[in-house]
This record gives sequence, C-alpha cells and structure tokens, in this order.
Amino acid sequence: MRVSVSALLQDARRRGYAVPGFNTLNVETAWGIVRAAEKLDIPILLMTAYDCLDHLGMETAYGALEVLARQSATPVALHLDHGRNLEEVALALKLGYDSVMIDYSFLPYEENLARTAEAVRMAHAFHTPIEAEIGHVPGGENTPEEEDESALAYTDPKVAADFVEKTGVDFLAVSIGTVHGDYKSKPRLRIDLLKEIARAVPLPLVLHGGSSTPWEQMEEAVQNGVAKINVGTEIMRAFLQGMREVPTDCLDLRKPLLAGREKIEDVVRAKAENFRTLRHAKGWRPDRA
Ligand SMILES: [Zn+2]
Repeated sequence: MRVSVSALLQDARRRGYAVPGFNTLNVETAWGIVRAAEKLDIPILLMTAYDCLDHLGMETAYGALEVLARQSATPVALHLDHGRNLEEVALALKLGYDSVMIDYSFLPYEENLARTAEAVRMAHAFHTPIEAEIGHVPGGENTPEEEDESALAYTDPKVAADFVEKTGVDFLAVSIGTVHGDYKSKPRLRIDLLKEIARAVPLPLVLHGGSSTPWEQMEEAVQNGVAKINVGTEIMRAFLQGMREVPTDCLDLRKPLLAGREKIEDVVRAKAENFRTLRHAKGWRPDRA
C-alpha cells in the first residue's frame, strides 16, 4: 500500500526510530527490498536517484516502483532522491512520487536557499512534501565535481533553523559526519551537533550515507531526531554479490537476478533492526499512527 511520507516520518521522529529509504536501480532491487519489508512488516521508502534515472528514465522507474508499492502488503512510499534541478522535481511531482528531494547543498548558502524555496513552492502546489539538505554530505554524484571526504561540511544548527523557516521544507537532510558510498577512514558521527540541530529544527531529520556507518552511532542518531536514513551502497553490493555467486556459464538470466534479489533481504533486515524500525514500526499503518 502507498502511504503518506509526512505521516510516516513524523511518527518516526516522535517515537525515536528511522524509516529506511532504499535506493533502487532496477525492478529486481526494488522487488527484493519490498519482499523483505513485507516479511518484516515494516514501512519503507523506495527511492530513485540519478543513477537509476540515467539507467531507466524516470517514467519507467516510477511505473515499476508504483506497481510494487501499490501491491505491497506493507506501507511503501516512493521518493525522488537527490533531485538535480527543478525540471527533474517537476516531472517527479507530475508522475506522482510521494515525496521528493531537491539537492543544492553544494551551492553557496543564499543560492541553495533561493533555489530550494522555489522547489518547495512547486512541491507544495502538488501537496507533496519535500526534503532539502543543509551543510553537505560529500560523494553524491549530483555535484558538479567528484568529491572525497574533505568536501564534508557540517550542518550549523542556527543556519539550519533559518533555512527551514525561509524555505518551508518538510524534511531536512543534515551533515553530521556521514558520507555517500564507502568510508576511507572510520566515521565518527557528531551526535552532540545532531542534538543541537534537533532542538533548533522540529522537523523529521534525514541522514544520507547510511551504508557502512557503525551500528551504535546509527542507533544514537535515530534516537535524536533522525527519522529517515538513506541506504544505497550496501543494497548494490549485496545484489552484486548474489549475482556473482551464480556460475558464469549459466545462461538463464533469471538465476543471477534472483540470487541478487535474495541477498538484499539481509541488508533490509539489518537496517530495520539498527534503525529501530522493527522495534517501533512493525505493523505500522497510517490510521494507527
Ligand atoms: Zn544522498
């Protein structure tokens, strides 16, 4: 069943768990995620980002995800991750995504503010909630140049409050030490900073770069305002690992695709435990929130 992202994330922030937002690349990755979520009976977000858009195109991606979400026994919402410009956001709104992200976090503050505010006006005209980012989580491929961990810019709580007030965003992605993809050095999340941001911003907070971040740090983050965590790299790695376990002379393409799909289930289960989704949102339905 499709659900409202606002109802879901507000419940998560209030009750100290996070909803995993999983990146998808094709039907099989999305399918594996939904099947795992159904087994666990937890709500999830299925996301499409630039890599999926470049691979399938937004209309194809949306069409496939929409059927899976609608037919799912557990709550599933569809989210456009890292919208690169207003055109992309507009198409997602028109197609019917349940929430969208616009990401201008790599731009100077005033520019991020102005362009985000415009995207918010668009999204709200469709009654769709929107996420934006303040501070900068490095390694997202939508930035103009390739980045390493040195491009990390921590979120300033005062700036975050100003950004929320002036743009009207519904969910705020913050930068407290995570990076996209794999880490080069061991991450140490700034939970102290997160607590300050959560005091200044009452909205559901979002953490990008949920793959390979230490268990205890994630658990502390979800108890301090983080209501949505994006996971991409670990999904893709598990899928590839499953595919590689099928002998290379196998000519039945379904076999590696199914093996990849099955491997994804372990990632979904681990994140549901780590983000306290399983503990607090098992059996969650919008009318029971
Ligand atoms: Zn991201």
